[in-house]
Amino acid sequence: MGSPSYRLAAAITIPSTDEFLLVRQPPPPSPAPAPEEEEYLYRGYVDSELYDLPSAPLRPLAGELRSDVAIRGADSVAGRLDISRLDVSASLDQICDQFGLPSGICGEWRLLKYVEEAEFGPDAGLNTVLIIGSLESKLEALQDSWRWMSKECASGLLSGAKSGGTRIGPYAYIGLLKPELPSNWTVAPALPCQEYPPGITLVPMKSNTLQPFRTTNLVVVVATDTPGGSTCSDCVVYGDALLIDPGCCSQVHGKLAELVNSLPKKLVVLVTHHHHDHVDGLSVVQRCNPDAVLLTHKNTMSRIGKGNWSIGYTAVAGGENICIGDQQLQVVFAPGHTDGHMGVLHVNTNALIVGDHCVGQGSATLDNRAGGNMKDYFQTTYNFLDMSPHVLIPMHGRINLWPKHMLCGYLRHRRAREVSILQSIENGARTLFDIVSKTYADVDRKLWIPASFNVRLHVDHLNSQNKLPKSFSMDKFEVSCGTNFMLWWAVAYVQARSSPAILAATALAGGLAIAYALKRNSGNEP
Ligand SMILES: [Zn+2]
Repeated sequence: MGSPSYRLAAAITIPSTDEFLLVRQPPPPSPAPAPEEEEYLYRGYVDSELYDLPSAPLRPLAGELRSDVAIRGADSVAGRLDISRLDVSASLDQICDQFGLPSGICGEWRLLKYVEEAEFGPDAGLNTVLIIGSLESKLEALQDSWRWMSKECASGLLSGAKSGGTRIGPYAYIGLLKPELPSNWTVAPALPCQEYPPGITLVPMKSNTLQPFRTTNLVVVVATDTPGGSTCSDCVVYGDALLIDPGCCSQVHGKLAELVNSLPKKLVVLVTHHHHDHVDGLSVVQRCNPDAVLLTHKNTMSRIGKGNWSIGYTAVAGGENICIGDQQLQVVFAPGHTDGHMGVLHVNTNALIVGDHCVGQGSATLDNRAGGNMKDYFQTTYNFLDMSPHVLIPMHGRINLWPKHMLCGYLRHRRAREVSILQSIENGARTLFDIVSKTYADVDRKLWIPASFNVRLHVDHLNSQNKLPKSFSMDKFEVSCGTNFMLWWAVAYVQARSSPAILAATALAGGLAIAYALKRNSGNEP
């Protein structure tokens, strides 16, 4: 996994008020543009403004060098981090440069918190040192990317989020706002986790998932019982806690059991879809709390074995409300990855839990064996864009603070793949292997198998739009899928890794096997 990297985030306050400085966060760099007629579609999708504490990378000092910036309270985390070995001075210069002030202006800095990131992966974690300092008086002449905000105002923007409204980022929440909010639950046992936005706790738990990820995010929502409570009158279910996708592997079932036992008894469980890395812990939930209510789509339930869940469930199809005390959520039908795939909108914070529709890094794979469908996938992506969520929460990898940027990136990527698949067909590719090997020539051959699922669905999508050349036979293409593809792939995989002698033997064996399989498959044709 390698070593974690570090970031310094600074809360800058003024005496006798609860205001602090926030800086508007720059959106991620624009991707390479798609053709103009396509790019036009994306221009209307712009994420609303995101404000957070100023921050900068925090790099280790070379050799025996030590930081000359004193941070009061740094000793309290000495067992986990020696802050003096990090270049705090350079990070502070970067932060203060952003608003044109010398870094000495805050006088003394105090440690607010040191946060070690949970294992979201696929890379090593990003740990954050949060510090707090105070100005003698309020700076008025700020650039327009900076603003003063009270804690009350920032909390209101976070937990009463309005679509298209100003957003508040995770450093401000974790450093300044969270300690002041009511909470009647902490993750037990003390599993590494992250709470952002308020009310949504992500616990990445070890699971048998596809590389490069190693964990599935268990989403936990617990009622905070703030005054006011639920205003929802048409909920499909009420509860005091909600779990989404208990998909951890058996090595951590003991920890999942402890977590379930620490939750209020009125428990709701929702699974976004049936894949084992999303349901492998369901039996633990059922054993610890047989009264828990399971919500899922009927197509998903039909694929979940009795060994995972043997009692009743409530079918949802999208649009249903769920009330967890003062936390309101809405089920979102999100087919594409599978035909029963669901997302969940956390209404209080306008955060969208997207299941496997997106992943923290890379692109998603659709499951053609469980009703995965490219047209549905595009449509769901547009539905997500139209919802203007403030944050996307995937089940693998980190949260994404630029939902529209990310979703448009997914659309660009899928469209570009579809164009290159059509080009390879127009250039003569007729079998699944031909198309995959041409379209994914620059990708590790290990990944050609999941890629082949998407290619099949792209070809179906092209066919449904009558875009395929007349000379292309869908029947012959179908025959080239399954075993045929696997045999060709096995030869190509060995070819990339073996000596010439092994290669020749494998090619011969593979050729004979392919000839045999082709004969069998053609015999099955009507
Ligand atoms: Zn999945």
